[in-house]
Amino acid sequence: MNPLAANIRSVEMSDSSAAAANVEKVNLMGLPEAKLIAFFESIGEKKFRAIQVMKWIHQLGADNFDDMTNVSKDLRSKLKNIAEIRLPEVVQQFDSADGTRKFLIRVSGGNVIETVYIPDGDRGTLCVSSQVGCSLDCSFCATGKQGFNRDLTAAEIIGQVWIAAKSFGQLSGTGPRMVTNVVMMGMGEPLLNFDNVVDAMNLMMHDNAYGISKRRVTLSTSGVVPQLDRLSQYTDACLAISLHAPNDELRNELVPINRKYPIAMLLDSAKRYIEAMPDTHRKITIEYTLIDQVNDRPHHAKELAELLRNIPVKINLIPFNPFNLSNYKRVSNTALRKFQDILMQEGYITTVRTTRGDDIDAACGQLAGQVNDITRRSERYRAQFDDVQSIKIMGQ
Ligand code: SAH
Ligand code: SF4
Repeated sequence: MNPLAANIRSVEMSDSSAAAANVEKVNLMGLPEAKLIAFFESIGEKKFRAIQVMKWIHQLGADNFDDMTNVSKDLRSKLKNIAEIRLPEVVQQFDSADGTRKFLIRVSGGNVIETVYIPDGDRGTLCVSSQVGCSLDCSFCATGKQGFNRDLTAAEIIGQVWIAAKSFGQLSGTGPRMVTNVVMMGMGEPLLNFDNVVDAMNLMMHDNAYGISKRRVTLSTSGVVPQLDRLSQYTDACLAISLHAPNDELRNELVPINRKYPIAMLLDSAKRYIEAMPDTHRKITIEYTLIDQVNDRPHHAKELAELLRNIPVKINLIPFNPFNLSNYKRVSNTALRKFQDILMQEGYITTVRTTRGDDIDAACGQLAGQVNDITRRSERYRAQFDDVQSIKIMGQ
């Protein structure tokens, strides 16, 4: 095998023990344009062949080389010997009465992740996962309760977009719905899987792949500041900060990474990110999950308004989604409205994320969280909550 191809393969296969069992073939699914071209050149093929294959995979939904009718038979059989287009497997698809569609997707190694598509008029937002589990252990998050299992490969991240787009007929040009927006707000902390997330976002926005505008792809982070400081060198996607508290004392409890990178440091880094963007008028989205009696009091809203003064932000309030391993409660409607009113009176654009797909448990982290009981921490929780066993599904 050509050393460059081997090199690309090692990038793509990194962090995937099961993928290592299939070391013979390079998975083209997760290679952004530059890496795909490098792969083709490494096997003596021209750049335009790489572009053709890229379009076949991401715009026409091909998952095998035989479909690529404008690629010569010789090249197709050469590719079949050394490369593959490997996608994670859809275990189950749930369709909500409100049009929300949720995919449970098995990635190599057997873990299950979730991807949720939320339609809204002509818009269709896909909520994409970046890791199996998460190491950051935010106190209100079901994914955090699982602990961390592994990073997803770039192929597994972009594969979620491919799967959703294909399921709506987008990749054959026949579908009524499209993936118009992507938010990296599924399972995991995207900045802790930096290279693979950057490669996948690059494919989402690339004209030879999904061509989604940079204003419609959003990376959400709980605040891994050193990685956020690097991000503008690699992407110009939108940024969301999971803040959830207006002061360090409270945020230390809700978002433990705050003890390492406190609020002032995080907001400075976020400001630098949007200032580095070529287009002006960018706003940082501030996500604030409202938990009953914890961070939902009027004085929290006033403190938040002071904290964000002079920073270009819009605020997205997310009513906490209860799950069975947490004692927190959802914010009351009265407190939610009051919190929103205060922020709006202070001049902030403030939206409330409505819960969608209730009938299929499509809200943040709910179902795959129950499928993937993967760490000792969840063993401990299981001992405390006998009923977890009864909701585990599909024999995982
Ligand atoms: N790790 C990244 C992205 C994934 S979490 C981050 O934290 O930003 C995506 C969003 O869902 C975050 O804003 C997170 O705080 C929110 N979230 C997690 N668990 C939730 C729950 N139980 N109820 C409501 N929002 C939740
Ligand atoms: Fe991880 Fe985000 Fe959940 Fe925190 S909220 S545990 S960073 S996935």
